[in-house]
Amino acid sequence: MSEAVCGACGAAVRAPFRAPQPEIAPDLDMRPGEPARSTLRDWIQVCPKCGAAAPDVSALPSTVRAVVESEEYHMLSTSVLEETLPFRRWALICERTGDRAQQAEALLQAAWAADDAAAMTEPARLRGEVAALWDGTDDVELGLRRLDVLRRAGHFEAAEAWAAVLAERGADDLARSLIAFQRARIASRDIGRHLISSALPPPSSMPHVSHGKRATTGFWSRLLRG
Ligand SMILES: [Zn+2]
Repeated sequence: MSEAVCGACGAAVRAPFRAPQPEIAPDLDMRPGEPARSTLRDWIQVCPKCGAAAPDVSALPSTVRAVVESEEYHMLSTSVLEETLPFRRWALICERTGDRAQQAEALLQAAWAADDAAAMTEPARLRGEVAALWDGTDDVELGLRRLDVLRRAGHFEAAEAWAAVLAERGADDLARSLIAFQRARIASRDIGRHLISSALPPPSSMPHVSHGKRATTGFWSRLLRG
């Protein structure tokens, strides 16, 4: 068995980090609960030689080398909040390789890192970028996460408008509960973090959920485990 090497430059790298399974419910934007939550800083691996950043740098295609050697990539080291740097590097690689879905996840993780660093304006700015990448999504999970991202960025009017869009789509009971919870938080101008479990009614009031009849998607089944 050969040692893992960086896909961009070929330097030897460690095996990628594996976060522990969360035991506590996730936040409304699906940041996982503890013990996974506090391992955030380890989620992105950085090549010690070329600075390539990814969850698994050995999986990067060699074409990423051009991104890693670009001036924009180098500029990140001095222009962004230090705690967010690995996530911002990974986001730029995703952007340059056309992976908007991973880019959005990387920027949201950067926002979480900025939250943990108690940064003043960076979390809201990063969430604004995530909301733009998820604009108009048809995906139920991303739609609900986008609602939380807009609210926590303090974009209350956009959040309320998006809540109306999601409600008009004919949400099921679980989604309706989450949307109603978000609308109440939006109305009270609350940008705080909330657990998904605090937004859901007790299972006993939703018998079809406890029987698993409509909990068909990965999103809902993850919610119900949390
Ligand atoms: Zn490298």
